[in-house]
Amino acid sequence: MSKFIFITGGVVSSLGKGITAASIGLLLKSRGLKIAHQKFDPYLNVDPGTMNPYQHGEVYVTDDGAETDLDLGHYERFTGVTTCKNSNFTAGRIYDSIIKKERRGDYLGGTVQVVPHVTGEICDSIRSVACPEIDVVISEIGGTVGDVESLPFLEALRIFRMQEGRGNVLFIHVTLIPFLRKAGEIKTKPTQHSVGKLREIGIIPDMLICRTERHLDKDLRSKLSLFCNVDADAVAEAFDVDNTIYEVPLDFAAQNVDSVIIDILGLRSGKRNLAPWRDYVDRVTNAEHTVTIAIVGKYSELLDAYKSIHEALNHAGAANMAKVCIKSVSAEEIEEKGAKAVLAGAGGILVPGGFGGRGVEGKIEAVRYARENKIPYFGICYGMHMAVIEFARNVLKLEGADTTENNPDTKFPVIHIMEEQKRIVNKGATMRLGAYPCALKKNSQARKCYGKDSISERHRHRYEFNNEYRDAFEKSGMALCGQSPDGILVEMVELAGHPWFLAVQFHPEFKSRPVEPHPLFRDFIGASVKYGKTK
Ligand code: GLN
Repeated sequence: MSKFIFITGGVVSSLGKGITAASIGLLLKSRGLKIAHQKFDPYLNVDPGTMNPYQHGEVYVTDDGAETDLDLGHYERFTGVTTCKNSNFTAGRIYDSIIKKERRGDYLGGTVQVVPHVTGEICDSIRSVACPEIDVVISEIGGTVGDVESLPFLEALRIFRMQEGRGNVLFIHVTLIPFLRKAGEIKTKPTQHSVGKLREIGIIPDMLICRTERHLDKDLRSKLSLFCNVDADAVAEAFDVDNTIYEVPLDFAAQNVDSVIIDILGLRSGKRNLAPWRDYVDRVTNAEHTVTIAIVGKYSELLDAYKSIHEALNHAGAANMAKVCIKSVSAEEIEEKGAKAVLAGAGGILVPGGFGGRGVEGKIEAVRYARENKIPYFGICYGMHMAVIEFARNVLKLEGADTTENNPDTKFPVIHIMEEQKRIVNKGATMRLGAYPCALKKNSQARKCYGKDSISERHRHRYEFNNEYRDAFEKSGMALCGQSPDGILVEMVELAGHPWFLAVQFHPEFKSRPVEPHPLFRDFIGASVKYGKTK
């Protein structure tokens, strides 16, 4: 049966627990072990689908249609292993399930309590991803040790270890080793306190991963080992990386983090093979070109809101030996200053997914600027809606054409709500979600790019292309180059006579991996590098 690794965090948040979990997953996988990742989030929302990107960052969508935490994106990008609904549980989801059981009478009149019911539900959800085919389940616990919200989760892990037996469960604590500039020293005390806090709950970590901006010397590692009751070779550092986050697993490999884990859990494994990974990092380090990509969105200052897009652009950059400089542009700034003033200098323009009316006219202007000046354009989900509206207004001359999302009374509803969405009133998990197949048109740019006739991509939307306008678009040069296999839904459009203008109803960014860049991003960056050079 599977063995289990739990990753907790201490001292502060934002230590990179997700990258740590992902890197460990990659290292174990590179030694031939089968792994599965899981993330627990202690907040009470049932899933992050309804949460504001300012608070939560991007919503990552899985093949089976779950709206999840963005750390699942790291797991998939690092390991290539597909996550699913049971890869992410929030406290809200745990309680939701318990309350449904209670209302059904499943507890037979018993008092429903945090211990054993909430903790039991957490243990069951950990086991839901374990199976004989998986060697190791790696579960990351969101939040920081000492948070009120995290307590039931940590309590559950203590019980889980007792149930599974010591040799089958490993605890890794990710912590901060601060550097005090005036004292010229790095400090271990916050880590000692944080480990002490874990021990109060009955969890003794087997391994420490110390986030630090200064390297830990041998003495410091011994001190941490002594005070925190962790073997000296199980004290590792997570040094701040400047180049790319994909260096972290190489750094862990150099410290034999995987070997320590394999020893403690008594796993049988092969030799580590990180050659494709090293090749990727080398490509990033030795980039020959530079290209600027303008992302025109609502959350220009918020990096995490478009996390997977940023990563996919970086993967595509490495495939083209190019460093991608991302220029985050607020669509409202384009409304104020005009597209040229804001977008001049960009090698390519990307409009990502989005919701609602704010900044929409600026996004449509960005599309017009890209179309008229033959600048590579990539529209994703809302970015496809914007491309369709722009073409309708400025090429088909359908004045006031719009999406009914923002303008229900428009005379030309070129984008409208999907039939299956019309009767839905609940907000959570009610969109068209998850992977759907798409057939590509012969001789299209899309077909050439993917190199196959049929693809599968992940969706998250309520609105779609209005089929009444199919002929008008096709006749005027916007090809409906990707459709659902039954031919009912338009999933991709492209422009004839433009060097690279593609817009898609799905989110290709979720499936890009450093060692397997997504073809659409790869070719968009290829075209953008080329355009950047001709200017
Ligand atoms: N707001 C649009 C819709 O719901 C697009 C969604 C998105 O970009 N993810 O259809």
